[in-house]
Amino acid sequence: MATELQRLAHRMDGVSESATLRLNALVQQMRAQGIDVVNLTAGEPDFGVQEAANEAVRKALAEKKSKYTPAAGIPALRQAVASKTNAQQPGVKPIWAAADVVISNGGKQVIYNTLQALVDPGEKVLIPAPYWLSYPEMAKLAGGVPKILSTRFEDGYRLTPEELRRALVEGGARALILNSPSNPTGAMYRREDLAALGKVILETPEAARLVIISDEIYDRITLADIPFTSFLDACPALRNRVVTVNGMSKSHAMTGWRIGWSVAAPWITQALITLQGQSTSGINALAQEASVASLALSEAVFQPQVESYGKRRDLLIQGLQGAARLKIFEPQGAFYLWLGVGAYFNSGEDSMGFSERVLQEAKVAVVPGTPFGAPDFIRLSFATDERSLTEGARRIVEFLA
Ligand code: PLP
Repeated sequence: MATELQRLAHRMDGVSESATLRLNALVQQMRAQGIDVVNLTAGEPDFGVQEAANEAVRKALAEKKSKYTPAAGIPALRQAVASKTNAQQPGVKPIWAAADVVISNGGKQVIYNTLQALVDPGEKVLIPAPYWLSYPEMAKLAGGVPKILSTRFEDGYRLTPEELRRALVEGGARALILNSPSNPTGAMYRREDLAALGKVILETPEAARLVIISDEIYDRITLADIPFTSFLDACPALRNRVVTVNGMSKSHAMTGWRIGWSVAAPWITQALITLQGQSTSGINALAQEASVASLALSEAVFQPQVESYGKRRDLLIQGLQGAARLKIFEPQGAFYLWLGVGAYFNSGEDSMGFSERVLQEAKVAVVPGTPFGAPDFIRLSFATDERSLTEGARRIVEFLA
């Protein structure tokens, strides 16, 4: 029983700690005991950072660029982000300028800040499931009410216009969070899917206050013949109310550098700058310099990484063929394999208990789907070496047999 002293602020009510922490702790414990665990939980690329980033840091250090940076980010990085976004949104006019960009502590802080700045208590945040597990928790921290919208395996986990319309006409929706390519499913929206969702938003009077947060952090990692489409490019009429979220973590394998950004209209950007200016201030100066250098590299530099993800995906899927009752969603982007495992549950079990069994008995660490809004699924990461993938798949198939 918490004492009066220990009673936390109400905004912490019902906010969950990362559900994967317990499993990770278990993995560490097993490894410390000398147990050979294959870890397929990584939410980050295993590739190293480009030398250009390291070189930029050395140069910045030599030039003593170690002071506070502006709350919105250094001008060179804001400009580089505006240029990248304009290239991905050629249909959007007027084009984006450096002033429309805010550099934050990863894409995570961008989404957090956006919800804090826009959502009033009780307003709904629409989140298609399966979702990145932080979205609902961040919505709650902003006082909002996460409203989970269902999508279907059979529809490629794409939110349908009908489902969106149904949610919007209920009223009270302040934000919609879209994520393509998706963590955890690897699903991608096609241009026409996004355009259809945009049309519903424009046509629904109850959506007059709706802002769309488009999380495009896996933009470069496309594995099928679906080209990446930035949401706003498919619906340019929504320019005044889309926050495009992206960053260096996945595309440039720079997770620990903590650089993400928003690109949005001035009324949103100004709010984000005010919020960030009174909370974290400007982001690490050296990481921003490194990001400017990395963003200047050509796409071709990263092509081998994308090809490698494609090969690894194929390897993992091939390795799992021996387990006939697995429901495999073939990912079109990102670096996750989303697996329906419900047919293998013990009675009363969901993916949490199942993942624990896979870890204890097969010695493979996987991420349960429950905190992503899908209790019958697990997520395997293929951002790891080929041996781990073949060995992990072999152990899982043996375990399921
Ligand atoms: N969005 C999605 C879908 C993610 O998977 C992640 C990281 O796992 C992020 C955003 C945040 O990434 P970062 O804060 O490292 O930029």
